[in-house]
Amino acid sequence: MRSGIDWQYLIQQCNDLLSPCRLCPRQCKIDRRQGKTGFCGAGAVPYIFKDFVHYGEEAALVPSHTIYMTGCNLRCAFCSNYRCWDELQQGRRSAPADDATIIDHNFSNGSRNVNFLGGEPTVNLPGILRILERVNPNIPVVWNSNLYATPEAFSIIAQFADVYLADFKFGNDSCARQIAESPDYVATITRNLKTAAANGKVIVRHLPLTGHEKCCSRPVIEWVAKHLPTATISLLDNYIPARNCGLQGGTNAELQALRTYIKECGLKEEPMMPVSERTSFRLAGNHAAALETEIFVGKDGSIYFQDLDGNLLNVADRLMRPPSDT
Ligand code: SF4
Repeated sequence: MRSGIDWQYLIQQCNDLLSPCRLCPRQCKIDRRQGKTGFCGAGAVPYIFKDFVHYGEEAALVPSHTIYMTGCNLRCAFCSNYRCWDELQQGRRSAPADDATIIDHNFSNGSRNVNFLGGEPTVNLPGILRILERVNPNIPVVWNSNLYATPEAFSIIAQFADVYLADFKFGNDSCARQIAESPDYVATITRNLKTAAANGKVIVRHLPLTGHEKCCSRPVIEWVAKHLPTATISLLDNYIPARNCGLQGGTNAELQALRTYIKECGLKEEPMMPVSERTSFRLAGNHAAALETEIFVGKDGSIYFQDLDGNLLNVADRLMRPPSDT
């Protein structure tokens, strides 16, 4: 519950971080208050490219009203959502009063929270604050983020977020630089994870990549076990390769080994909503679409998937994996 928050003060603090923009470690030397855009491409007003009640998130969070905004400060080669930074003005421009009305409406009709993601919500923090100041303060806020934020930006986020659905993608800076073009990755993420844990519930999301068990997956699990023993780990096991990135999600054997390691380290896994229980959930009103599935075919013939569900997910996964892994 967010009663007592001085939203105008937070908005002012956030605006101060925009010229030059210091919301994330990129520290772009541009004045976003003058309409300039930096590495993430986010402008003064967020663009919402998807907005629906999601049943495919972690079971403890669904139904979750997910709001996807364009703009991202990482460039993960395996990103299956790359359109969020390639087509920045897709969807609709955020209108804070209207967006707040939709959030309140969906909460009244059964969604358990509002879940900001992208892209990366941090790069759209000014617009999100303008929405949240109008939202029912009893609605839990899920910050579904890569956590690549400066301490100043994260101290603002920590004042209103209830649950952190926090990516911890790489266990070392070398992989983070090579795969996501992100310097100072580990120090930034671990610092913000500690702040998040001091202010709310933390679910650490990790996508195991084949060949990165020793350098990334195990170090991530070990760090969480040592520093955030009450956090849970959500292993992303339904990744379907995006584009020709040369990266694959963990094989069944690799995933099983990591699941065993999570237990050995004394941590608990955060279960995803079982596919069999992702029943269609359609709320009243024009903006309350049920789960969406999107399949894109790129100009080069590459195929991209978003939010596949049920049998379609299994079929696509079988088709996209190399023969040796089936
Ligand atoms: S939020 Fe965007 S503009 Fe600001 S520093 Fe990060 S990448 Fe640059």
